[in-house]
Amino acid sequence: MNTAPGIVVGSLDSLVADIYVSHKGLAERADVLVRSAERTGDRQTADLGRLVVAELYNRGGRAPEGIAQARAVLSSTGDRIVVAHAHAVVAGGLWRIGDSAQAVRNAYPASRMLQPGDPAVLRADHAIVLALQVNDRRIGGISHREFRVAQELADATRIPALILANLNNWAWCAYTHGDMRTAVDLAERMRMCSERTGAPLNASCADTVARIMLETGDQVNATTVIEHAIATAEATDSDAIPNALMTLADIQRRDGNAGAALNTLRACREMAARDQLADVDATARKMISACYAELGDFAAAYREMVEFHNAWTVRRSERSEVMARVAHAQFAVDEARRTTERFREMAERDALTGLWNRRRSDDRLATLTRTPATRRGPVCVALLDLDHFKAVNDTYTHAIGDMVLCRVADLMRTVGGHAGRHGGEEFILVLDADPAVAARRCDQLRAAIQGYDWTSVAPGLSVTASIGLTAMRPDDNAHSLVNRADELLYAAKRDGRNRLAIG
Ligand code: GH3
Ligand code: MG
Ligand code: MG
Repeated sequence: MNTAPGIVVGSLDSLVADIYVSHKGLAERADVLVRSAERTGDRQTADLGRLVVAELYNRGGRAPEGIAQARAVLSSTGDRIVVAHAHAVVAGGLWRIGDSAQAVRNAYPASRMLQPGDPAVLRADHAIVLALQVNDRRIGGISHREFRVAQELADATRIPALILANLNNWAWCAYTHGDMRTAVDLAERMRMCSERTGAPLNASCADTVARIMLETGDQVNATTVIEHAIATAEATDSDAIPNALMTLADIQRRDGNAGAALNTLRACREMAARDQLADVDATARKMISACYAELGDFAAAYREMVEFHNAWTVRRSERSEVMARVAHAQFAVDEARRTTERFREMAERDALTGLWNRRRSDDRLATLTRTPATRRGPVCVALLDLDHFKAVNDTYTHAIGDMVLCRVADLMRTVGGHAGRHGGEEFILVLDADPAVAARRCDQLRAAIQGYDWTSVAPGLSVTASIGLTAMRPDDNAHSLVNRADELLYAAKRDGRNRLAIG
């Protein structure tokens, strides 16, 4: 693989796993991977690389962009693994903008579309996403089943970052649901895994462990863990370090050190301002207010509380605006896809009869003649031309002539196979059938045209057609095939019309 100097790209697996470890240089690695995959025509890897970039947007405070990019990938491919992963990335993005209900709807297919034998990192990653989406903001107790499944898949990868990521989500959900016994067990498993493998806890893992320690009264160890994390841990979410700072401030306040807590929260707000983390900023303000109250400065406490309230109100409406914008973007994507489909359909249909047009028929024949006979089976082609149609126009008007073409088209559709208008009053049928079956169906069509009640279209009207039918031969191309059918059609005309010629 051709790489830029100094960048170790590694496999796609390692990129997806590294999202849980550290984001340093990850966007560059993903970019290199996408470009090299594009050069070699490896679309699956290129798309998965794009999804790594989208996930980095999600985690870098740019979730609407991450969602848009993942949805663009989603709507442009039918590759099962890419589609599944795009769903997982969309789910993560939606969850971050606060649309949990929609997020879980993407998390399910992400997980279900993968099968045993698919890349283990992706299977674990998607199961981790699903477990979190099912449990986060869940009313009532935790559904441990999804976490257990995800844990098994994560353990199977033997990648500490994935193992820790699921334990972290599981522990956090247990903690926020007030299930402290489970939370403590899981935090202990995280600590042990980190010790055994030498993989440090990232900032959000450390934050969870510290919160749980704090809740169980172990303030000393909680302080050690969180201070260590703030000083050294990798942030795999833009709000991970600010959240750790808030945890530290909480510990300091409980220690009766409201002054130190105030300083910590000011540092937190600086980070929030730098990275545009409005939620973090608002929450920090609320905590600052509590610190002032503890210090007896109620005027400042009141001021901060008012500020918090204002910020939170703005945040709430911003959040629903972002959600609405993202939902609207999806609507626009769906609409564009529907329009594209409609235009494609229109480009391939004959405007008068609705049958496939000449271009589409030519494409079909080109594809069929390229496909080996062993794979495609027998194919027959028939050309059908209305007899003395000029006289129909001359006697009954052009409008009646048009109606006749439409009725003939209806009769052709009942035959099955590919029915097209080849031009003027000439039609084509492509049948996946052996010659005997095709001949029977074509003669039934001829008889149906002759026997149709044409007086319902115009009094005294009668219509017949001549048909030339031939079977595809191994050395045929689209041209030779249609030519033979055309010669047979004219033989049918010469022989008196209203008949089928086979050859
Ligand atoms: P034959 O039995 O030898 O095929 O005689 P024909 O009169 O059917 O053949 P000819 O090629 O002389 O005339 C074809 C006619 O089909 C002439 C043309 O006006 C008519 N036609 C072609 N396209 C349309 C159409 O879209 N609508 C109508 N009403 N007539 C059409
Ligand atoms: Mg003709
Ligand atoms: Mg004709």
